[in-house]
Amino acid sequence: MPENFNINFDPAALEAIGRFQSLAYILAALLFILALAGLSKQKSARSGNKMGIAGMVVALIATFIVALTQTEAGALLAIVFMVASILVGGISGIIKAVRVKMTGMPELVAMLHSFVGAAAVLVGINSFFATPGADTAENAFHMGEVGLAVFIGAVTFTGSIVAYLKLSAKMSGKPLTIPGRNFFNALMIIAIIVIIGWFINTRGVDDGLLPLVIITAISLVLGAHLVLAIGGGDMPVVVSMLNSYSGWAAAMAGFTLGNDLLIITGSLVGSSGAFLSYIMCQGMNRSFISVILGGFGGDAPKSGSGEAKDYGDYTETSAEEVATMLKEAKRVVVSPGYGMAVAQAQFPVADLTRKLQDTGVEVQFGIHPVAGRMPGHMNVLLAEAKVPYESVFEMDEINDEFGDVDVALVIGANDTVNPAAETEPDSPIAGMPVMRVWDAERVVVFKRGMGNAGYAGVQNPLFFNDNTDMLLGDAKDSVEAIIAAL
Ligand code: NDP
Repeated sequence: MPENFNINFDPAALEAIGRFQSLAYILAALLFILALAGLSKQKSARSGNKMGIAGMVVALIATFIVALTQTEAGALLAIVFMVASILVGGISGIIKAVRVKMTGMPELVAMLHSFVGAAAVLVGINSFFATPGADTAENAFHMGEVGLAVFIGAVTFTGSIVAYLKLSAKMSGKPLTIPGRNFFNALMIIAIIVIIGWFINTRGVDDGLLPLVIITAISLVLGAHLVLAIGGGDMPVVVSMLNSYSGWAAAMAGFTLGNDLLIITGSLVGSSGAFLSYIMCQGMNRSFISVILGGFGGDAPKSGSGEAKDYGDYTETSAEEVATMLKEAKRVVVSPGYGMAVAQAQFPVADLTRKLQDTGVEVQFGIHPVAGRMPGHMNVLLAEAKVPYESVFEMDEINDEFGDVDVALVIGANDTVNPAAETEPDSPIAGMPVMRVWDAERVVVFKRGMGNAGYAGVQNPLFFNDNTDMLLGDAKDSVEAIIAAL
């Protein structure tokens, strides 16, 4: 490779490229903000996604051009590295996105967060080697940024890996609750802050390497330990919390690189992730602190028959009986859950909705904020099956109206419709807001058998209510059988 292959930019060209970079970064930042605004509503989610893609393309092109003016190793080498990185990243991203099943999204997201964390650590370490400690105030700031980038990045990295292993059931979802774990966590955080102080005061690579290695090591242990201590039931909050951490890690990497766009993007991800965690905690009636310090879902059995409590007998129904019930109904509300995703029942559910609406039945959907296995999981499935947005309501919008509903169809939902959250203070899900489907005149629950509990591993007394009928079998087959009977 010709070592001296360098593009010689004259000062005027460099200035023009600098201006182009600023404009491109502002444009990309605006597109990212519009993307977030679009993604906040189901109707505009697709266009929001396109805005995000456009922002990323603008950012990549700007970074590509600017990097050519900054490289010391030779433009050709820079081009080869950048094109290779974009190709490897882009192609593996496309393959993963095409292959992933909707039910595997949370673990994929967790894995992607781990990449952001790892990138922040690597950028931080590289930045330290490029500009180690020196005797200037500016350098002290830089060293602080490096220390924080490595700290947040390493916590995000191992935390996300543990979240990935838990969500993909490669590791038990039970919380690892070693005695004095909160003291141990606090000690690690204090140690990291003190060592960052030491790191800022070092001079040169030899002096700063040891504290940097210690910060990295402790942060890696802290990230893993924080998430190991959290129960499976709280994983949705953890994933969004790690989303927030990954944003702050990227923002810190932006500071160390002096890249404004990375700072803006990282802050957007960091704050939106924190806000989402807050909304989810509200949805589960949990305090953020109690989630971080270990939560429900661990003590209860993950599957099996749940608690040994005897709630009486359940009534089984058939697709034909449900079809008759639906024909006579005026208002039907569907409360979908994880089982609808597993069965891929959203398409026949959308068909059933259209059929009933054609005969004058009002059909609506009530979505619990943590139904399924990721935030917005049900909304994505219903949008995929082209269920009209006007029929889809958030839990808070419809929960008080179940008294006016003739039939509530609980399709593959369990924890999110469990009355024990309201009636049994000792239940692991006590206090979690749930869909009050039991207020409807009749409730039909779609699930495969009576032996399995929901995600939190607790029995659901709803199944044994007098006005509840169980339609046992795969949700897709059951809905198709109802359509046939109609
Ligand atoms: P649950 O996981 O509580 O229950 C799923 C239900 O679907 C079960 O009753 C199961 O019964 C049934 N089911 C599974 N497969 C099928 C099938 N093929 N056909 C018919 N039924 C089926 O679901 P919810 O959505 O109500 O609750 C979500 C839970 O997941 C909450 O505890 C939440 O905290 C947690 N969580 C949420 C995340 C999020 O971000 N949304 C992320 C991670 C966890 P059976 O096996 O008998 O069929």
